[in-house]
Amino acid sequence: MVIDPFGRGITYVRVSVTDRCDFRCVYCMAEDMTFLPKAELLTLEELDRLCTALVGLGVRRIRLTGGEPLVRRNVMWLVEQLGRHVAAGALDELTVTTNGSQLERFAADLFRCGVRRINVSLDTLDRDRFAAITRWGRFDRVMAGIEAAKAAGLKVKINAVALKGVNEDELDRMIAWCGAEGFDLTLIETMPMGEIDGDRTDQYLPLSLVRARLAERWTLTDIPYRTGGPARYVQVGETGGRLGLITPLTHNFCESCNRVRVTCTGTMYMCLGQEDAADLRGPLRASESDELLRQAILGGIARKPKGHDFVIDRRHNRPAVARHMSVTGG
Ligand code: SAM
Repeated sequence: MVIDPFGRGITYVRVSVTDRCDFRCVYCMAEDMTFLPKAELLTLEELDRLCTALVGLGVRRIRLTGGEPLVRRNVMWLVEQLGRHVAAGALDELTVTTNGSQLERFAADLFRCGVRRINVSLDTLDRDRFAAITRWGRFDRVMAGIEAAKAAGLKVKINAVALKGVNEDELDRMIAWCGAEGFDLTLIETMPMGEIDGDRTDQYLPLSLVRARLAERWTLTDIPYRTGGPARYVQVGETGGRLGLITPLTHNFCESCNRVRVTCTGTMYMCLGQEDAADLRGPLRASESDELLRQAILGGIARKPKGHDFVIDRRHNRPAVARHMSVTGG
């Protein structure tokens, strides 16, 4: 395992396989986004090679994300290739974060390739709100996708960004629905990443406040459950379900960060909230041997910063980093 300068073992990589998405969620992207020319992207074969090098350096968990990972052409080929590391015991987990739009098509294949757990991003159960938040999303298709995932045997976790004045009045309903469906639910604080059309200060809802409000209705008990990511979990007494809280603003957990992120152009970001990055595409393409690539990965991890410093308030209403979440991958 590779250890960073702060003694953290790097065992988790999130790979954004495309910056493109079929939704335009208001807190994530501007409606009019410019995407990378396809020629800039790593091929699926290169992504496989890069991920395999990371596995060779001790990464035990890979999450494919984006953009929307399931809209990348032929992405199941990559999933299948990476699935071989799960089958061989070199990876503990291969998983995907998706908006659910393509799950009807791909759920069974994901399971066949060794994926057992997926995160589906869903911020509301209200059809009109869903349309307003995602701009381009089709609610029925996502719900059918979630059903397909369940039917395929995938364990589903619902991720919802908590948004002031948008879905804050719906969180009780989402807890009840997830409890009834057997899904864990994770709430996420909105992070100041990239320019969007609105003002993030208007959207930001601290989860410390949300938790206090939820505790008036639900019995929430802290539990040590972890999935290897940044969420801290509570058990919801009434539903028996788990509720995760990802709180990069009100309480960051950078001290236990075990992750690096790789974009679809082969840029490795050592922190979601910092600009420093290591280019892996150059070394990947420079030689057929993986030695240069390994050196570039190790060089990047040796510069992993202590943490991010996300702040959202009236004085800090500029993005902390210029890139959108869809570039680095959520
Ligand atoms: N398209 C996939 C999806 O919808 O899950 C994967 C990529 S998406 C960028 C990953 C996650 O990041 C989603 O749950 C999304 O809601 C979240 N996200 C996007 N922008 C965010 C922001 N500024 N702050 C917090 N979460 C954000």
